[in-house]
Amino acid sequence: MKTPSVSIVIPVYNEQDGLTRLFDELYPVLDALGRSYELVLIDDGSRDRSASMLREQYQRRPDVTRVILLAGNFGQHNAILAGFERSRGEVVITLDADLQNPPAEIPRLLEQFDAGHDYVGTIRMGRKDSSWRVLPSRLLNAIRERTTRIRITDQGCMLRAYSRAVVDAVNACPEMNTFIPALAYLFARSPVEIQVTHAEREAGESKYSVYSLLRLNFDLMTGFSIVPLQVYSVLGVAISLLSFLFVVYMGVRRLIVGPEVEGVFTLFGIAFFLIGVVLAGVGLLGEYVGRIYAQVRARPRYRVQAVLSSAEGEEAQH
Ligand code: UDP
Ligand code: MG
Repeated sequence: MKTPSVSIVIPVYNEQDGLTRLFDELYPVLDALGRSYELVLIDDGSRDRSASMLREQYQRRPDVTRVILLAGNFGQHNAILAGFERSRGEVVITLDADLQNPPAEIPRLLEQFDAGHDYVGTIRMGRKDSSWRVLPSRLLNAIRERTTRIRITDQGCMLRAYSRAVVDAVNACPEMNTFIPALAYLFARSPVEIQVTHAEREAGESKYSVYSLLRLNFDLMTGFSIVPLQVYSVLGVAISLLSFLFVVYMGVRRLIVGPEVEGVFTLFGIAFFLIGVVLAGVGLLGEYVGRIYAQVRARPRYRVQAVLSSAEGEEAQH
């Protein structure tokens, strides 16, 4: 198998009821692309027949299929990372196994690549999920928009395409908990979003409980922003400032009108001032912790797009 131009990466977790339909829809689309491709299927420790179905599929199309069986359930994003590390295509497209992202959209993602983009995100039109899934994700989207520099309209949609360079940069990140669309976004030079159709889940049920969704969104927030830590410094400084003004006011009042309820409010003012100082201290610690966190995460600091140089041995790259 020589280096394909497109890799399709699909994480699979207990999807036995939908896999046959997935393959029936996917291969014809891929065969019709007119580009070489590989399909990278990752079994994320399924406890149903999914793994053996992937093995069978490998037997059927070994020329274009690669199967990775993980030894346990490590979660959708880790499964995708396992696929990224073993994919070789110039463009890497991720997709859910449940057919909520129609494979027929794949050529449209590739069009954007041909137009020069290196990251194609998608927005689901007429999202077919229950409202208890849609509302929380709207809210979390809004929080993320305000606290990080990541601009993704529809973070939940995994039908996305990344260039080889972006995937390599993601692979170079050794962090433990991550959210791939956001991480990849950091390394994209020219991201773009298109609208795609969204279908009902074909078979089986969503693998995400409310709890695991919350965990995922914490990963997203804490992984890309230290605003939650910085809130304390701002809060602390604001409280100290206000209580300082209050204490000054009480002092002046004492000189003019005399002491209020035996100085109780002055005491409050001083106590609040000290609380503010403590909070500011917590925030300051947060700043250091945030820096330690960024250091430990050890993400590539930048991604070079090209080097133009006349020096011998240097090579321009995209
Ligand atoms: N998935 C996975 N490991 C998990 C949970 C999910 O590989 O621990 C896969 C799952 O098989 C599917 C994709 O991730 O291909 C998205 O999962 P799901 O459709 O359940 O999420 P939802 O569409 O409800 O957000
Ligand atoms: Mg789904």
